[in-house]
Amino acid sequence: MNIILLGAPFSGKGTLARKLTEDFGLVQISTGDLFRENIKNGTDVGMLAKSFMDKGQLVPDSVTVEMLKQRIAQKDCQKGFILDGFPRTIPQAEALKKIAEIDTVIQLDVPFDEIRRRALGRRTCSKCGEIYNTSTYDKPTCKKCGSPLFQRDDDNLETVNARLEVYANQTAPLIDFYAERLFVVKGQKDADATYQIVKNFLKGKI
Ligand code: ADP
Ligand code: ZN
Repeated sequence: MNIILLGAPFSGKGTLARKLTEDFGLVQISTGDLFRENIKNGTDVGMLAKSFMDKGQLVPDSVTVEMLKQRIAQKDCQKGFILDGFPRTIPQAEALKKIAEIDTVIQLDVPFDEIRRRALGRRTCSKCGEIYNTSTYDKPTCKKCGSPLFQRDDDNLETVNARLEVYANQTAPLIDFYAERLFVVKGQKDADATYQIVKNFLKGKI
């Protein structure tokens, strides 16, 4: 089963994707994580991506699509994958059609004022990638693996506002694009409640 998670930044896509990988044996593909990995390794793609990410803008489609294509071609993706953060534009969605079959599109629908509230509290584990929020967990180290938590470079108010604008203009049109295959979840509840709803929906599809 191949799934797309659609939603604004901080809507909870990453957290949901991680839970789904555990229960359904799917591979999580986060283009944001792939870019951050490239930045860490100092690749050309990473250097280019960083200049856009730091401003809250999208990395150009050609670069993003090529990177995704290579990731999907890897063997582990054959058992099914969850796309977290891709596609983010209509041209990316058109390109995806030629790369893979998609079974379901799940949209996490969270009001923008809730998103702004979450934005500045997000913390990410430097080792295992677990995501926390200071409103519910305000410690410097990861509950799962003990590694230090950090705040992403692009999790500041200015960049967050830019990312929300980019979402509204470039990504939200995908809701119509995928209208026939869309499952919408109100994502303002806690992460576990949201997950239960999605899990039940997907179980009905297997
Ligand atoms: P979030 O989970 O907060 O939505 P991501 O980690 O998915 O953020 O993405 C961080 C940044 O990486 C984006 O703001 C953008 O610059 C870049 N990026 C990630 N995915 C894509 C994509 N599909 N197309 C273009 N840029 C992307
Ligand atoms: Zn950790």
